[in-house]
Amino acid sequence: MRLRVMLACAACRISRFVLRLFGRGGTALPGKIALRLYPGLLARLARPVDVIMVTGTNGKTTTAAMLRHMLEQAGRPCLSNRAGANLLSGITAEFVFSASLTGRPRKKLAVIECDEGAFPAAAQAIRPKAVVVTNLFRDQLDRYGEVTHARRSILSGLEKAPEAVACLNADCSLTATLHLDAGNPCLFYGLDIPGEGEAAAVSDAPHCLGCGARYAYRRHTYAHLGDWYCPECGRERPRPDYSVTSVAPAPEGGSLVTMAAPEGNLNFRVALPALYNVCNAAAALAGAGAMGWDLPAAARSLESFGAVFGRMESLRLGDTPVQIVLVKNPAGCDRALEYLASVPGECFPVFCLNDNLADGTDVSWIWDAAYESLFARRSFSQIGVYGTRAQDMRLRLKYAGADDEKIQVFDTADELVAAVRGLSVPVYILPNYTSMLVVRDKLAAAGGGGKFWE
Ligand SMILES: [Zn+2]
Repeated sequence: MRLRVMLACAACRISRFVLRLFGRGGTALPGKIALRLYPGLLARLARPVDVIMVTGTNGKTTTAAMLRHMLEQAGRPCLSNRAGANLLSGITAEFVFSASLTGRPRKKLAVIECDEGAFPAAAQAIRPKAVVVTNLFRDQLDRYGEVTHARRSILSGLEKAPEAVACLNADCSLTATLHLDAGNPCLFYGLDIPGEGEAAAVSDAPHCLGCGARYAYRRHTYAHLGDWYCPECGRERPRPDYSVTSVAPAPEGGSLVTMAAPEGNLNFRVALPALYNVCNAAAALAGAGAMGWDLPAAARSLESFGAVFGRMESLRLGDTPVQIVLVKNPAGCDRALEYLASVPGECFPVFCLNDNLADGTDVSWIWDAAYESLFARRSFSQIGVYGTRAQDMRLRLKYAGADDEKIQVFDTADELVAAVRGLSVPVYILPNYTSMLVVRDKLAAAGGGGKFWE
């Protein structure tokens, strides 16, 4: 048995080494090879490690990064799958790389981000101490069919790790109701701040999973999130154990947050902008609470938590503030569009779309993102598009209700940067992966720098 563990670990490391020789990164193949040689490898390697897992549609990466940051700030080493390798193979490889040659873990703590589809197998093998479920939205329809499939997948994972404390988003009816179906110990987090009365007309979760009646809302934050209840059968949003009771803009950027927690009231600043990052912070703190970490210290650490590379980054070009928000799938894109819609005052949005190999050459996902909701909520006097598929982007925006005459196509990133320079309104760039790399480089070369929250 021990020999098989060592062999599988060695094969994993060697295959990574060989891939790197050929200039290829990635942990999927090494992980796959290791699991082929020893299917029980992940369970074996994870057994002595205290693991917190993060799953759900949106905010996984940021929430997991916040948890990792909390541990780093506390001087507690942890292993984590930071490269976005969130399938079984990638997670396994991460455990291998942080173990000794004989398969002994060198770190006692792990923060693992996990894809919803991979969650049942991963949770069964890892047997985490806690699981944070961020929310459930429609995402990658081709893979999950619909959002209820993702929900079933998460439920199945929770059932396979029955001792794991499930930290559930009270505001998301799809997530919160998992406590009715799973036998796990559960705790809830949520936003108890003023919001509007009704959820958006287009909702990912309009109907009660108990009786099929339409949910009503006492208060609504965004998408289908809020203080939901079923007027027919009485199902309702559970009271959050970790409840955000106030959010105000912080003078130095981000949000000042007050949270009522079982450990006492917490006041802290979330350095990242936008309300959904307050949600991510609440999710991370609930996870930290479930793990028994020092909660006031965890909350304080959020003040020094910066952007995950390219996911949301701020810089200045001269006097023009520029924010880059990476978008690479419909769900993440919708989140970025919601943020853009909430920006007060005039601004200049730029949508960048490349179809290089690293982006996935199929760019049809832009038709699944809700650009319509952006143009239904606000208008712009000028819109930019850029990238190898700029014309597809332009067409998409036109169909979503943008005024074609206001759309400016930039043929090169230099043209884009030249147009941005000297603008008196803030610029929001929504690129996919490789277009982000190009635009970021050009902005840096033009003197754009000085991230103002790190
Ligand atoms: Zn009902």
